[in-house]
Amino acid sequence: MPEITYRLPQEIKLTSNYPQGAESAKLAERRAAAVPAGVASTAPFYAVDADGGVIVDADGNSVVDLGSGIAVTTVGASAPKVVEAVQEAVSHFTHTCFMVTPYEGYVAVAEKLNELTPGDFEKRSVLFNSGAEAVENAVKIARSATGRNAIVVFDHAYHGRTNLTMALTAKAAPYKQGFGPFASEVYRVPMSYPFRDGNRGGKEAAAEVISQIEKQIGADYIAAVLIEPIQGEGGFIVPADGFLPELVNWCREHGVVFIADEVQAGFCRTGKWFASEHEGIEPDLITTAKGIAGGMPLSAVTGRAELFDKVQAGGLGGTYGGNPVACAASLAAIETMEEWKLNDRATRIEEIVREKLEPLVDELDYVGELRGRGAMMALEFVSDSTSQNPHPTAAKDIAAYCLERGVLILTTGTYGNVVRLLPPLTISEELLGEALDIFVEGIRSVGQ
Ligand SMILES: *Cc1c(COP(=O)(O)O)cnc(C)c1O
Repeated sequence: MPEITYRLPQEIKLTSNYPQGAESAKLAERRAAAVPAGVASTAPFYAVDADGGVIVDADGNSVVDLGSGIAVTTVGASAPKVVEAVQEAVSHFTHTCFMVTPYEGYVAVAEKLNELTPGDFEKRSVLFNSGAEAVENAVKIARSATGRNAIVVFDHAYHGRTNLTMALTAKAAPYKQGFGPFASEVYRVPMSYPFRDGNRGGKEAAAEVISQIEKQIGADYIAAVLIEPIQGEGGFIVPADGFLPELVNWCREHGVVFIADEVQAGFCRTGKWFASEHEGIEPDLITTAKGIAGGMPLSAVTGRAELFDKVQAGGLGGTYGGNPVACAASLAAIETMEEWKLNDRATRIEEIVREKLEPLVDELDYVGELRGRGAMMALEFVSDSTSQNPHPTAAKDIAAYCLERGVLILTTGTYGNVVRLLPPLTISEELLGEALDIFVEGIRSVGQ
């Protein structure tokens, strides 16, 4: 694999007042007076620099990053090509608005998305700023194309925090609590969740979904089936083999648009450009964001050209959508993924993670399951292997244990009982190994 060189030392280095030194403490005080508590942060320290697998804080602490700012900095937080491309782009123009004066970068990102996403058919891409905005627009496009209303979503789904995407998201607290009323014509069906549905086969799980939607909604009323090929905030749930292909087939038969929300799983995270490829499916529309632009805000909807045909000129867009600096960053991030073979790195990360964590599943009663693909792996914690009751305090305590020792790690899941690994794909094997050793120590000492 190509060698990656780093600007910052790839190490854990903690000063005496870690996790909140004097500088971070001052910032925390200013924050408390200026920023509402509704925006919560995992870490008590404030970042000033980041590169490869580390984040450096305002007091000089260097911490291992196993979260990538929630699966965003796949190429690292200051990948040289991205930095250079942003600097070059920003020195020419920061904005014109693509809807007013178009520019090449937007077109080039659309071309790249059309080429990289699964499916050998004629495609189009439209750019936005956030994952939620991409999902909202995918729904708009599907409704316009079909002339139908209903959107089918799944248990444990996460699609964002805007009004429509809150309705599409499953979990009430903290995402929806107190924020209704929500958008209508959203129908939720059971997800294939092998660990919690008795290891039901994918076809069987799909049959239940199909029966439910045919009986309760009616196929000819459904505009789209929307699903994350691997659920992110729901707990890194990988559906059983065959679940997604069955749903895609059913959608094809009934003129329903199949939308894959690849906002978290896309762009090399799972060892392929898109998680849909693991399932051999070709979604009609794919939403992307997070890893798409090396940390710059950008998102997209990509899909079958004919689905966009009915949308009137001016029907899609937004002031900042496809910002030229973000587009430049995206092209550079994609080049970096190709050059550094980040799909191979994600696959290698999975090997390393499985080697370290797999033995714990048999050994420790409270380690329920290791699952995921590539550099999107997670452990689900349970009270014991018989009842499999969710054990959220284990996940919380283990994450806290890691943070105290300089490893930033995120929890997730409907029940909050999952610890997820989302390292930048540019992390060195040595640093990843060191961080995983601390994670394993944490699992053993505070996971019970
Ligand atoms: C993060 C996420 C979103 C929302 O993206 P934002 O950029 O936070 O709006 C949507 N779908 C999935 C699968 C996500 O993981």
